[in-house]
Amino acid sequence: MTNRRDFLRNASLFTLGGLLAGKGSMASAATNAAPVVHNVHASKNFGLQIYSLFRELYDDVPGGLKKVADMGYSYIELAGYRDGKISNIEMADFKKMADDAGLKIRSTHVNPPVREYNASNKQQIMDFWKKAADDHAKIGVQLLIQPGQPSTRSVEETAYVGEIFNEAGKIAKAAGLSFGYHNHEMEFAQVIPGGSESKFGRRAYGRDQQGVEIIYDLMLKNTDPSLVFFELDVYWTVMGQQDPVAYIKKYKDRIKALHIKDKYVLGQSGMMNFERIFAQANANGITNFFVELERMAEGTGTQFEGVKGCADFLNKSSFVK
Ligand code: MG
Repeated sequence: MTNRRDFLRNASLFTLGGLLAGKGSMASAATNAAPVVHNVHASKNFGLQIYSLFRELYDDVPGGLKKVADMGYSYIELAGYRDGKISNIEMADFKKMADDAGLKIRSTHVNPPVREYNASNKQQIMDFWKKAADDHAKIGVQLLIQPGQPSTRSVEETAYVGEIFNEAGKIAKAAGLSFGYHNHEMEFAQVIPGGSESKFGRRAYGRDQQGVEIIYDLMLKNTDPSLVFFELDVYWTVMGQQDPVAYIKKYKDRIKALHIKDKYVLGQSGMMNFERIFAQANANGITNFFVELERMAEGTGTQFEGVKGCADFLNKSSFVK
């Protein structure tokens, strides 16, 4: 009887969550209802980009990672790699803390030391990727992802960035990792051949301009699918005035990971249709879902509370498998 009652209670919550998920302020009611749902999160597949916790994580990393696992996250994506450490923690020690918490370190965000790519600093970039790939391979990380946009002011400069990504992909592959790129909104700006700046939104190039391309599309076109994959940040895609579902559908062989993100806590803004996003991702067979949370709005709670709110949203959403 208990099982049946729990099932009915959970089933009604799933429906409620589904109805409220896209309804702005009403979504917070669904978030508040989440603690009633028990024992569903263990089987769901989603992870956390640890940047979401900001410095709060470093007050107590072993304890913080256990809290993350208890919320229902089953894997993490690192941030803060520098000189062979994560923040100030030796990578092997960080892995031990993650293992103890029951979290797998699946991915990492790492930016090379320069933003402008050219022939004179190519070797510096490659030396950086070699060390980063080797350091992460030692602790079993699979995905090596660049989250920062290099300078892409023209079609030609964007093509060169693609070449550098391919080279980084070769280095990652040799170390047993996959190299990926993560977007913000300005990858959806436009460039032209021989251009000197990218343009976006109201400043976009006019209809009579020849050769206009979206940077993100050029990045896809100029990279080798066997060397470079894409981690689509669904929130920044929307902020880039594009439909993340259209991209996930069109580039199903390229987009292998998602950043599951909203303005603040998942589901609260009403601007993200996570049901459509997960439906397409599940249809594509995507298995890497990393929740990301920017700094919480003033007075709305700690980063840990926000990260818990995100997990609660996914745990009660029936479209998350
Ligand atoms: Mg992101």
